[in-house]
Amino acid sequence: MNVQQFQNLLKPLTESERLHLFQSARTLTRQRFGRTIQLFAPLYISNECVVTCTYCGFSRQNKIERKTLTVDEVLKEAEYLRQQRFRHLLLVSGEHPKQVSPEYLSLIAQKLRPLFASLAIEVAPFDKETYSRLCASGVDRVVLYQETYDRLQYASVHLAGPKKFYEKRIQSAEAVLQSGIRSLGMGILLGLSDWRAEATALFEHLLGLRKKYWRADYTVSFPRLRPCASDFAIPHPVSDDDFKQLIAAFRLALPEAGIVLSTRESATLRDELIGLGVTQMSAGSRTEPGGYLHPDQALKQFETEDQRSPEEISRAVQAKGLEPVWKDEESTLMEVL
Ligand code: SF4
Repeated sequence: MNVQQFQNLLKPLTESERLHLFQSARTLTRQRFGRTIQLFAPLYISNECVVTCTYCGFSRQNKIERKTLTVDEVLKEAEYLRQQRFRHLLLVSGEHPKQVSPEYLSLIAQKLRPLFASLAIEVAPFDKETYSRLCASGVDRVVLYQETYDRLQYASVHLAGPKKFYEKRIQSAEAVLQSGIRSLGMGILLGLSDWRAEATALFEHLLGLRKKYWRADYTVSFPRLRPCASDFAIPHPVSDDDFKQLIAAFRLALPEAGIVLSTRESATLRDELIGLGVTQMSAGSRTEPGGYLHPDQALKQFETEDQRSPEEISRAVQAKGLEPVWKDEESTLMEVL
């Protein structure tokens, strides 16, 4: 699908056009991904950050309690998540080169990799050599959002720290794919700018990468801005209907790409989106470091909306006629076969 065709899917639609779009997205998701939804858990390892992002609870200037987990604490949180059946783990942190260094991440990856089917990181961007080292330690996936492709808005919300530089961040996606890591998660933070323009820019970015790195796996995600410690006023709120249209449009435009949905969205909406295009969902998420074993409201990045337990979410997926997948898709497939 070219950019013009994709933009046509983003246009305001009549009710019958919307229903048609959703039905096409459902059918294609079923054809490509079967009746499965992969469940994963984010593990917040640090809320320390040297960056000022005006929309984020971890932003440098926010006077919140800061914490970076020790390696031992990370292992205990991970063990808790393993007991909850998770085998896909996403390590998340603020951007702090000293507290969340490549050495710290490597050590954690080496210890966790044998215990999990997949180990992803959503931390500061690194150079190609560092990503290669992390890959050798067991990291198999990097999540790196541009946040917004609107350069003016990018400059107005990223005020200080390394993330201030738009070009440098956008180039980091290539560093990931040149390093040996085969899976890249991309995304936009919905609410910062016009969602249709953002979606188009993300689509173009992904097409460009795919042309060059055609062997890589890509996922997309569209977190909507949530209340946080910054009290940031959302400049371009995105409605539920537009959000659903965006997901369905991406499914049709990129049939093979995974679409990831977080617990930022309400339980009701998440249940509606099961089967529409989403292929991976987080479940039972805590957004503060150490929050699974020691919940602490003061350390959170943002409020989650869907606060159901992993088991409850698993049952919700089954109620939609789909199978929740906790572990490696291939081994699950082998068991089914
Ligand atoms: S969005 Fe990331 S880089 Fe920006 S303040 Fe929050 S944690 Fe730091």
